[in-house]
Amino acid sequence: MMAQYLALKASAPDCLLFYRMGDFFELFFEDAARAAADLDIALTTRGEHDGKPIPMCGVPAHSHEAYLARLIKAGHRVAIAEQTESPADAKKRGGKTLVSRGIVRIVTPGTLTEETLLDARTANWLVAVGEAASGLGIAACDISTGRFEIGPVSREALDAEIARLAPAELIAQPTLAATLPGGLAVDKGFDSANGERRLKGLFGVATLDGWGAFSRAELAAAGALLDYLDRAGQGTLPFLQPPVRRAAADHMMIDAASRESLEITCTASGQRKGSLLDAIDRTVTGGGARTLAADLSAPLGDREAIEARLDLVSLLHDDPDLRARLRAALRAQPDVARALGRIASGRGSPRDLGQLRDGLNQAQRLQAMLRGIDPVPPLLSLMLPRLGGHGALIDELARALVPAPPIDAAQGGYIAEGYDAALDALRDAGGEGRRAIAGLEAQYRTRTGVAQLKIRHNNVLGYHIELPARFADPLMKAESGFTHRQTLAGVVRFNAPELHEEASRVGQAGAHALAAEAAHLESLTELALARRQEIAATAEALARLDVSAALAERAAEGGWSRPVIADHPCLQIEGGRHPVVEGAVMAAGGRFVANDCRLSPDDRLWLVTGPNMGGKSTFLRQNAAMLILAQAGGFVPATSATLGLCDRLFSRVGASDNLARGRSTFMVEMVETAAILAQATERSFVILDEVGRGTSTYDGLAIAWAVVEAVHDTNRCRCLFATHYHELTRLADRLDSLSLHHVRAREWKGELVLLHELAQGPADRSYGLAVARLAGLAPPVVARAKEVLKKLEAGRAATGGIAAGLDDLPLFAAAAQAEEAKQDVLRDTLAAIDADTLSPREALEELYRLKGIA
Ligand code: ADP
Repeated sequence: MMAQYLALKASAPDCLLFYRMGDFFELFFEDAARAAADLDIALTTRGEHDGKPIPMCGVPAHSHEAYLARLIKAGHRVAIAEQTESPADAKKRGGKTLVSRGIVRIVTPGTLTEETLLDARTANWLVAVGEAASGLGIAACDISTGRFEIGPVSREALDAEIARLAPAELIAQPTLAATLPGGLAVDKGFDSANGERRLKGLFGVATLDGWGAFSRAELAAAGALLDYLDRAGQGTLPFLQPPVRRAAADHMMIDAASRESLEITCTASGQRKGSLLDAIDRTVTGGGARTLAADLSAPLGDREAIEARLDLVSLLHDDPDLRARLRAALRAQPDVARALGRIASGRGSPRDLGQLRDGLNQAQRLQAMLRGIDPVPPLLSLMLPRLGGHGALIDELARALVPAPPIDAAQGGYIAEGYDAALDALRDAGGEGRRAIAGLEAQYRTRTGVAQLKIRHNNVLGYHIELPARFADPLMKAESGFTHRQTLAGVVRFNAPELHEEASRVGQAGAHALAAEAAHLESLTELALARRQEIAATAEALARLDVSAALAERAAEGGWSRPVIADHPCLQIEGGRHPVVEGAVMAAGGRFVANDCRLSPDDRLWLVTGPNMGGKSTFLRQNAAMLILAQAGGFVPATSATLGLCDRLFSRVGASDNLARGRSTFMVEMVETAAILAQATERSFVILDEVGRGTSTYDGLAIAWAVVEAVHDTNRCRCLFATHYHELTRLADRLDSLSLHHVRAREWKGELVLLHELAQGPADRSYGLAVARLAGLAPPVVARAKEVLKKLEAGRAATGGIAAGLDDLPLFAAAAQAEEAKQDVLRDTLAAIDADTLSPREALEELYRLKGIA
């Protein structure tokens, strides 16, 4: 057995091996130690290997899914080795009686389909990144629903693409994997020829041209992804829809740091609660919830597509009655996509088929309900036909299955009466047998005169006669017609020929009935799988309807409005609010103050000052959130909004707000700021919150100053910049498209009142001490701080303070030009040198000359 175990283990060295032993899965050696620790179960030993006891732990086979879930969560991969023949067959083979075993499946975070192992409202992406001379490519699939995407990606956008998908599992070639957080190094399958062959085979096509031209990197990624799935399924590939070709440039690019700081789908601490998604999610189905999360993660970049989504949301927003009926119908909808995923992966249950029957049936009714709408928005007219067309399949499933089929097929009982006459006959025979057995009980009671006699059934003895021990003696004699089977405390058990006969009739009929049901299950599954593309399309249409109705519902709840999408880069918001902060403020009994934002091409950078806690961050984020919501195709929390399409969204928060991340925070802040300056375009939107705070005052001010200038002159993007460096307000005189704003505050009877209201112009003072008092700093400390401040301010008045001399600084553009000119001279001089003809001495002279220019 150990030899068999070790051979299996060697074929899956990166996995914990679940080795089937009867009713248990057992783990040995190192695997046992690791699993026992992560599962908090007992570690024991079993037998010896090389003279040492073998560490062992085990989990019951019937409840192994729960243990699997925990091991996968803890970051393990698990190989499942099942018995591939029965012990009886092994005996028949003769010789050694060790049953053969094989790995039937490798379970990894990205290849799950089980309901119990997945979150119903979250997609489960397996992502492969491929690399070729042509660049990078991404292939991603969610096998729980069959979604499949392939697309090119630039090195610059790679991080944002991975963050968009938030993969459960990420694989790449070893060199690349090392640079990707959470990346698993895999060296098999990254080969474009393999990818091409696999894709053609999977979708039965002779050419991939239908998808446009995949690059070699994309094909390599697809090849590795399919190889990986193949290995996980040990030869059975799960159901995948034809891939959607998706380029990173098709949607708003949001990098990982921006996602984290905007808390789009989860908060900084990793929770869904408190995120933007959580604050707007009114979906009523798992499929809808997954689609909404995907939409928010990848807001659209195409105006027509955004308007199409908005049209459908508008329709449902303006018709509360239709919306209510649609949502009520969706609420009863089973998760068709996931049921199909399980069926297609070979792990479907009768209940999954029942879910298809009910889900498709309800979709058909929805289709009827939505049919009369006039005029029909384009997106709806695209969805409507996908809701129907399953009539024949629904009818067949309805006839074949009982109303609520069980998850476990092993006990049978899921095929409805009247579907198969032969099955009905077998069941009748079984029923008759059981009735006959009940009749025998009465007969035996009369025969023995023991009223307490009972006929019982258990898995060991099957049907048997049981009676209290005190009546047993007379029955022990052969002429009684009973055969003794078992004596327990208080009761004695017997068999009898008539009972034996009836019992085997029941048993046989039962076994045949089970086999008949299993055969039906198989053909019904085939029937359903023949339509899997169409069923997946129905599931997608249902999810889209759910998302549209949910966005409409949320908009109606909060009095939100439909955004106007403009062609020029602007952000004109009246009465804007932040859905998450507003919720928190209202929950605390407060009132949220709505604020306007009016960015336009000639006023595109707002510098926001004001006291801490005044509402600066909230204002910045609410405008970013509205761009995301609008481009995802939803209404926005404002009285009116006109937005120019945004290609890339950046959000950075000064280092000290980010301590939790435990890296050298100022370094991180600068790396991230550098990325913005390198990537933001005129169509981008950037929010910078207290950038420069992570270092000393002088350094910080200098960096903030230079960043504002660069954003204004070079990137020319829309930008909101919050700062406590009052000195930056001097930039207003120098930069044409920058304007000053502040969050208002008042001191009233010695108390600080934060108004959370945005106003024109710079803040008049910083209110730092008032905030400190508000925060409960002891009065003597505040008083002392006041004295210190007075001294500092006197010093500033005398010398001009930290910002003295800033006004004489040449403009950023001029400085940059001068720097560039210098580099040009250097470049020209260098180009003029003919290195091959120089003597060593001349070379040295040239070097001195170059240094002179620099
Ligand atoms: P700052 O960035 O200026 O330090 P924040 O934006 O973090 O301030 O806001 C601090 C707190 O003030 C928030 O947690 C919220 O409770 C409240 N707040 C912010 N903006 C508003 C607003 N517009 N209306 C009401 N309360 C607000």
